[in-house]
Amino acid sequence: MINAILKKGKEKAVLQRHPWVFSGAIEKVKGKPANGDVVKLLNAQGIFMAYGFYNDQSRVALRLLEWNEETAIDEAWFRAKVATAVVARKHILEDGSTNTCRLIFSEADYLPGLIVDKYADHLAVQVLTSGIQNVMPVIIDELQKLLNPLSIFDKSDASSRAHEGLETVNNLLAGVHPPELVEVKENGITYGINIAEGQKSGFYCDQRDNRRIVASYAKGKKVLDCFSYTGGFTLNSFKNGASSVCSVDSSALAIETLQENIRLNNFDTGKHTSVQSDVNKQLRRFKEEGEKFDIVILDPPKYAPSRSALDRASRAYKDLNRVGMLLLNEGGLLATYSCSGAMDMETFKQVLAWAALDAGKQVQFIHQFCQPEDHPVRSSFPEGEYLKGLLCRVF
Ligand code: SAH
Repeated sequence: MINAILKKGKEKAVLQRHPWVFSGAIEKVKGKPANGDVVKLLNAQGIFMAYGFYNDQSRVALRLLEWNEETAIDEAWFRAKVATAVVARKHILEDGSTNTCRLIFSEADYLPGLIVDKYADHLAVQVLTSGIQNVMPVIIDELQKLLNPLSIFDKSDASSRAHEGLETVNNLLAGVHPPELVEVKENGITYGINIAEGQKSGFYCDQRDNRRIVASYAKGKKVLDCFSYTGGFTLNSFKNGASSVCSVDSSALAIETLQENIRLNNFDTGKHTSVQSDVNKQLRRFKEEGEKFDIVILDPPKYAPSRSALDRASRAYKDLNRVGMLLLNEGGLLATYSCSGAMDMETFKQVLAWAALDAGKQVQFIHQFCQPEDHPVRSSFPEGEYLKGLLCRVF
């Protein structure tokens, strides 16, 4: 096995079991590993530190896998990691009301670059590192052994693949091609998921718990679901007796799928309106028209892709939330989210405080949202924490 030597003074993060080693922290590599090979990381004194996937195309030159020198990184190692992650999700699926969740969440499940989502009997995978790409035959075989899925579909159309020198793919890896709409259940609600064409791997299962919590306030209420995608918050609100829901999204396909989902669940289409529009424009339109709601949900896409974008993103979050607050009836609820890892909860609360001041409103934080258990945060990898939200009562 090829050795990579760490620069002097760069040991700390590795000893704390952070899984990333940046190219700038590597003194030299003895030999010529291929991208995706497992190499041995030694410190400047030649002492073993960890095993990791190597990639000279990436800023993260090493993605660490194992800190015990005696443990071989072989087929059995990868099979065990897959099995552990899958078993850990069992109880999410146990009561039958949910048959979709994230089975493997990359670094958080000790498999850097591998994401696997379950959609009923189908699996969608994202392969984001060359290391995982190399071991995919073993991963596929293990997933088949454990779950016997009807299909395994590769949805690795993520921009992060470019950083690893990998091309975008969107194709069937095993089994039969999934139907255009795969029916899944979450919180007892049915969704049609378009695995091949949908965003990300087709569905945002990270909002499962948060949809349920927000919807528990929806009985008899007039709800505005912004950035609705295929209707996660809309459908949960109807299930809990919302008097009406308006869903806003800029994507025509998302709105079309949402409308189909409302019919699939036999919810009253007469109580639903959908608007295909830019949310910022639509919120201003509602304000001009004097439209008000009891609950406003704001679940925008990632505004801050990196720390350097945080200032700009904070202003965008502030403005969005300010207008959202202005559309609420007195004492109404704002459920607001940020999936930008660069924005932590404290900063997000600060943004909401600024928005409230600008709107001339008072805000109580009555609940803090986070990502669910199938998107675990590994203690040595705080970068894996990305989803946060606040339920605010607005006066
Ligand atoms: N709340 C959704 C997930 C939202 S994902 C759920 O529970 O499933 C973000 C959504 O925002 C996507 O559907 C995307 O089409 C939409 N979007 C992105 N920018 C937008 C904009 N400026 N205006 C309206 N929708 C937007």
